[in-house]
Amino acid sequence: MTDTRVRFAPSPTGPFHIGGARSALFNWLFARRFGGTFIVRIEDTDLERSSRESEENILESLRWLGLDWDEGIESGGPHGPYRQTERLDLYREYAARLIASGQAYYCYCTGEELAAEREELMTRGELPRYLGRCRNLCDEDRARLEAGGRRPVIRFKVPVEETVVVSDLVRGEVSFEGSGIGDFIIVKSDGIPTYNFAVVVDDYSMGITQVIRAEEHLSNTPRQVLLYHAFGWPLPQFAHVSLILGKDRSKMSKRHGATSIEQYMELGYLPEALVNFLALLGWSPQGEEEVLSLEQIKEQFSLDRVAKNPAVFDLDKLNWLNGHYIRHSPLERITDLAIPYLCKKGFLSGEITPERYHWLKAVMNIVKDYISCMSEVTEHVGLFFAEKVDPADDEARAALAGDHVPAVLNLLAEKLRAAGSVDEDTARGLLKVLGKELGLPGKKVFMPLRAAITGRIHGPELHQVIAVLGAERTINRLERALL
Ligand code: GLU
Repeated sequence: MTDTRVRFAPSPTGPFHIGGARSALFNWLFARRFGGTFIVRIEDTDLERSSRESEENILESLRWLGLDWDEGIESGGPHGPYRQTERLDLYREYAARLIASGQAYYCYCTGEELAAEREELMTRGELPRYLGRCRNLCDEDRARLEAGGRRPVIRFKVPVEETVVVSDLVRGEVSFEGSGIGDFIIVKSDGIPTYNFAVVVDDYSMGITQVIRAEEHLSNTPRQVLLYHAFGWPLPQFAHVSLILGKDRSKMSKRHGATSIEQYMELGYLPEALVNFLALLGWSPQGEEEVLSLEQIKEQFSLDRVAKNPAVFDLDKLNWLNGHYIRHSPLERITDLAIPYLCKKGFLSGEITPERYHWLKAVMNIVKDYISCMSEVTEHVGLFFAEKVDPADDEARAALAGDHVPAVLNLLAEKLRAAGSVDEDTARGLLKVLGKELGLPGKKVFMPLRAAITGRIHGPELHQVIAVLGAERTINRLERALL
C-alpha cells in the first residue's frame, strides 16, 4: 500500500443519491488504482436529519455496488472512531486550541441580531456575512452575556486580507477573497462542530491525502483551507467532481428519473451496470470502449480524465448498459433476480420445484432480450403464464381472419399432437414444413400462428415460445383460436 488515503464521507440524512455513489466510486477507484487506503467516515453532525437507517442504507448500497473499504465505519482502523458524533472530544480539543491561539472566539449574537446584520449588508448590496461583532469581547462582556443566559458558538477568525487559492486537481486554481467569507461558526452552541470544522479535523487526523468530492463543496473549500493554515497542517489535494445534470441541463432531480441507489436496486438494475454508468458520469476511458467492468475501470482510472464540465445523466444510456449486462449474465442469475418480481406480481407462488425453475430459465432466456431492468420482466412474461390468450389488438384479430387460417392452426395442432412433446428444434422443424405442405407463403403461416399462440403478431421467436409453452398448452391455444 502507498500512503494514498482517500475517504468517502457521507452525511446519513436521507436516500443515498447517485451523486454520492459516484463520489464513493471515484474515491474507491483512486485508492484501488494507486494501492491506497479507502476510508468510509460517517458525517452525522446534523443531529436532526441524520439517522442510523440512512447510514445502513448507504453502507448496504456501497456493498451492493461492490465498493469495499479498508478502514472506517464497521471495519474500524487506527484512526477511529469513524462516526463524527463519536469524535466530539477531538473537535472540542482542536477548537480550544484555536481559541487559545486567538484564531477563534466565542460569539453570543442572537438569531435576530444576525438577521438584522444580514439585512443591512444586503440592502447595501454587500455579501451577507458575519462582520465580527464578538471578535474582541473581554472577559467581563462574556461573563455578562452568559449571566444573561446566552450560550455561545465558536467562530473562526477569518484573515480578511488573505486571498485563498484552492488548487484543485480537476478545476485548476480557484481564488476566493477572505473578505467575502466572514467569521464562520466552527462549533455550534450545543457543542456540535459544523461540517467545515469537523471535516478538516478528520481529514487531517485520518491522514487523508486527496479529498475527492462533489463540486458543491468547492465553495466550502476556502474555509477549510483557512483552517488548515490556522493549525499549520499540510493541505490535502482537492478534486471537485462536477455536478450531475439531467438531459435538459438542469440539476439532476426526480424529474429526470430515480435519484437514489435504493430505487435503482428496487427497479432491478445490476450493480455492475450502475457502476459502469456512474464511472462515465464525469470520467472518460482512454479508448472507445465504454462497457467496462469495475476491474477494467480501476486499471485505467485517473483524475486527469475527470472532466471539468458537468456530467449529463442519460437514462437511455443506463438502460442500454443495463440491458447489455442482463443479456450477458448467466441465465441462472437473471432467473434468480426475476423471481422476486414474478412473485410480487402474482405470477409465482409457493415453492419453486426444480422443473419449474428449469422452465423459468427457458422463459427468461427469451424475455431477457426485451428488458432493460429486471422489474420489467413482469411486462413480458404474461404470455407464458397465461392459461389462455386472446388477440391483443386489431392487427392480431386481422391476422386470424383469413380463410386460410383454420388450416394453418389445425395442421400445427395436429403435428404437435403427433409429436407429443416439443423442444425448440422440433418446433422449428414443424414450422418449416407447415408452409410447404399448405402451399402458403411464410407470412400467411406465421402471422395467424403468432396471433393464436401469443395474442400478438410481434414478439419473440415462435419456435422458442412453443418450446416453452409445451405441446399441450400450444394446442389449447390453437384450438381456442379456432372456435
Ligand atoms: N458529508 C459531506 C456530504 O455528504 C461530505 C463532504 C466532503 O466529502 O467533504 O456532502
